[in-house]
Amino acid sequence: MIIGDIVNGIVIDHIKVGQGEEIYHALELDKLDAMVIVLHNATSAAMGHKDVIKFDKIIDLDLDKLSYIAPGVTVSVIKGGEVVVSEELELPERLVNVVQCRNPRCITSVEQELAHEFRLANREKRVYRCIYCESEA
Ligand SMILES: [Zn+2]
Repeated sequence: MIIGDIVNGIVIDHIKVGQGEEIYHALELDKLDAMVIVLHNATSAAMGHKDVIKFDKIIDLDLDKLSYIAPGVTVSVIKGGEVVVSEELELPERLVNVVQCRNPRCITSVEQELAHEFRLANREKRVYRCIYCESEA
């Protein structure tokens, strides 16, 4: 684990090479008022190579979004230079307002204020279905 000089912050580790940038934008880390480091192609004993993101601020990460985009990454919270929480993310059972239903006849297309909610239908194949119309995400 690379913590570097983060004293209080979050490290997202074990990201597949090339996915660091995608996560950076998906989590809107460009808007974060903090030092953000995206490490590309870091060497990893377990993976060979990986991307790592770290930033020196503890925020409420959108873990549903992150685990949907990049299941298998590890999120560690660092306080006072120590890792206080470390969690490997799995695909979430449900997604709320992470992806939009693309079925034009879905009720979510009509009722704009309705949450876009999907449930995991097949973990192995990463298939999510809209809870209203059963469309695939
Ligand atoms: Zn739908």
